[in-house]
Amino acid sequence: MLSLKEIVNPTNVKKMTEAEIEIEMKKLWKCTRCHKIIEIEEDMCWDCDTKKPEKIEYPSREETIKYLKKTGSSVPFWLGVSFLVIAGYVLFKGHLRRGIETFDLIFTGLFLVPAVILIIYSAFRKIRGM
Ligand SMILES: [Zn+2]
Repeated sequence: MLSLKEIVNPTNVKKMTEAEIEIEMKKLWKCTRCHKIIEIEEDMCWDCDTKKPEKIEYPSREETIKYLKKTGSSVPFWLGVSFLVIAGYVLFKGHLRRGIETFDLIFTGLFLVPAVILIIYSAFRKIRGM
């Protein structure tokens, strides 16, 4: 499970030491057929259904860094999307019940603001490849 710290501040790949990258590397395996990077808990390639080999081939240092950058940036994005869904739901419920009131607007804003911030932040990270 992800801790709150990891959600708010996902893996900063640039600040990782060689040893830390090595540890992350051992949590992954590389598909022998399509060369996709897969989490060690998975017994099969999600792309081509090739079974995890007896002798695991770990990704290279560069591949590990690339993989971490990719996965690290998707968490704030989905968190933002969830907030957006909650905000929409609150507004919709309020509308059905008795029309939208100040309370609904405040509550919606409470989720909408971090949602927008998270989505913009993750888009920014993706563009800059952080
Ligand atoms: Zn594969």
